[in-house]
Amino acid sequence: ILGISKGFDFFYFVQQWPGSYCDSDKFSCCYPPTGKPAADFSIHGLWPNYINGSYPQNCDPNNPFNESEISDLISNMRMNWPSLACPSSSGESFWSHEWEKHGTCSESVLDQHSYFETALSLRQQTKILQSLTSAGINPDGGSYGMENIKDAIKEGTGYTPWIECNEDSSGNSQLYQVYLCLDSSGSNLIECPVFPQGECGSEIEFPTF
Ligand code: 5GP
Ligand code: 5GP
Ligand code: 5GP
Repeated sequence: ILGISKGFDFFYFVQQWPGSYCDSDKFSCCYPPTGKPAADFSIHGLWPNYINGSYPQNCDPNNPFNESEISDLISNMRMNWPSLACPSSSGESFWSHEWEKHGTCSESVLDQHSYFETALSLRQQTKILQSLTSAGINPDGGSYGMENIKDAIKEGTGYTPWIECNEDSSGNSQLYQVYLCLDSSGSNLIECPVFPQGECGSEIEFPTF
């Protein structure tokens, strides 16, 4: 049954491992002015997507990022959604990019405050690092089985994740981002209707941070 169109089908909720952003061959990283973030997964974004794998972007130039709408969330965002890009920033430019590119495409469901609040609450709900360490998978620079990583996250969160890898400066494939899926109402985690693409390898590194 076709419901009222929301302009997208589901969300990817994407978290990044800071160690893999910082030691990759593609990026260098810079810590925020408040210092090195916690050695934990942090939010990259909440991305509206279509079931066919494509996605809308930059949907509403008339609804720019407005920090005053989320002033009550800022301290939580500094902790759980830091920006590691260079030059060093306290996060506003990253949040603004995420809202304008992705968030505006789900504005019929989540206004700006709900969008950021939803991402923060998913971060609390999913506890990726805890799921991994409970299974003996630690950010110690060691190499771990892709299936073991996925099983541990599924055990911890209840849902099958997608793992995105990048390469460290020596060319080793490493755990970079973890994707989970959220229904189009923004309320419930779901099994992903479609997974992203990209190669990892069956053994991947989990670098320190
Ligand atoms: P990359 O080229 O690093 O994979 O992705 C660049 C950017 O494209 C991401 O940060 C994100 O904004 C967007 N992107 C990449 N893959 C997807 C996807 O599967 N769904 C959505 N909604 N956005 C994506
Ligand atoms: P995307 O378009 O892939 O959603 O977002 C990636 C953009 O956000 C890039 O322009 C990147 O430079 C910027 N960015 C700022 N801070 C971070 C960060 O900590 N991690 C990632 N992956 N991108 C960041
Ligand atoms: P299968 O779905 O049969 O386990 O895997 C099919 C292919 O997708 C294999 O090459 C496997 O390594 C890859 N694959 C499975 N899960 C993931 C994942 O979460 N991320 C990435 N990048 N590749 C995966």
